[in-house]
Amino acid sequence: MSRPYNFSAGPAALPEEVLECAAAEMLDWHGSGMSVMEMSHRGKEFVSIYEAAEVDIRELLAVPKEFSILFMQGGGIAENAIVPLNLSRGEQADYVVTGNWSERSQKEARKYCQVNISASNSPDGHTTLPAPATWQLRDDARYVHVCTNETVHGVEIHELPDLKALGSQAPLVIDMSSHMASRSVDWSRVGLAYGGAQKNVGPAGVTLVFVRKDLLGHAMQHCPSAFDYKIVSDAESMYNTPPTYGIYIAGLTFQWLKKQGGIAAIEQRNIAKAKLLYDFIDNSDFYTSHVAKNCRSRMNIPFFLADDKLNDAFLAQAKARGLLQLKGYKSLGGMRASLYNAMPLAGVEALVSHMQEFEQKRA
Ligand SMILES: *Cc1c(COP(=O)(O)O)cnc(C)c1O
Repeated sequence: MSRPYNFSAGPAALPEEVLECAAAEMLDWHGSGMSVMEMSHRGKEFVSIYEAAEVDIRELLAVPKEFSILFMQGGGIAENAIVPLNLSRGEQADYVVTGNWSERSQKEARKYCQVNISASNSPDGHTTLPAPATWQLRDDARYVHVCTNETVHGVEIHELPDLKALGSQAPLVIDMSSHMASRSVDWSRVGLAYGGAQKNVGPAGVTLVFVRKDLLGHAMQHCPSAFDYKIVSDAESMYNTPPTYGIYIAGLTFQWLKKQGGIAAIEQRNIAKAKLLYDFIDNSDFYTSHVAKNCRSRMNIPFFLADDKLNDAFLAQAKARGLLQLKGYKSLGGMRASLYNAMPLAGVEALVSHMQEFEQKRA
């Protein structure tokens, strides 16, 4: 029996093979007599799961050895505080606003440092990407924060800015919660990257942080120890009990990604999936996308019906054909299709067929 296609923005669909493997290993992981949930995080069984997950994501994303990979808790929203607590020293930080999530990041950071809004697309309703050459970057900023994929508004930064070329010496901090492991990362342009797992790599409860080691050790005095990147890095993510089961599922997802051919292969699939849906929307008068073509997200695609009185019927008929969780974000309305790594091309084809038939029935 095949499962429905789940377009949720997060927590989101995981590869079926990952869920099947976890189900098969639920009561007894590899002959240990224990579920992964029941293991000491310091025992050799869990340490082997943790180490494999770390090695695999490092290999998949080609993370240089100058970076520590931390498995933390608190999600992207906690990172909105944890980043300034660790990097700002209470001084200046630059924020680029491109949508709902970067807006929330800059607001939270104001509790801890002096926030400068370097650029904002809010006059355009968060549908464009301010060109990096126009960003107002401060000489004394401790870091520059961007959200590289805006999950709500569907704006993606396809090429990371080269801050040095823009005259800034500050490290780039990226919130990549909703496209982590969907494409390659140019680490030469990044100081720190973070993301919650529940969009593309695992269940809610695990937050991955990739931090260049020279940025460790500058946390503000009142930063909670469990959120001090240096303490977490020195303890190899075991200063406190890490989210063990979530790390295990993320590790299975990393193994699945390797079997798919790695990030380059998955990125090509993601490009093809997004193109199929955008091309259909662009060729229709019935559906529209508001996002400028140069910054459209491959992962989260908000779209709108010509008449929003038809939204409920669209969603009900989608659900009846096994197309789940297409309702748009509450403040935007309309629809949103999230096409994360686990969404097969066939799922997008099924969505496009539904959209086509729904339109034809009304025409
Ligand atoms: C989902 C999301 C967050 C928030 O994640 P939480 O796990 O709820 O803290 C932050 N940033 C982006 C880009 C997201 O997609």
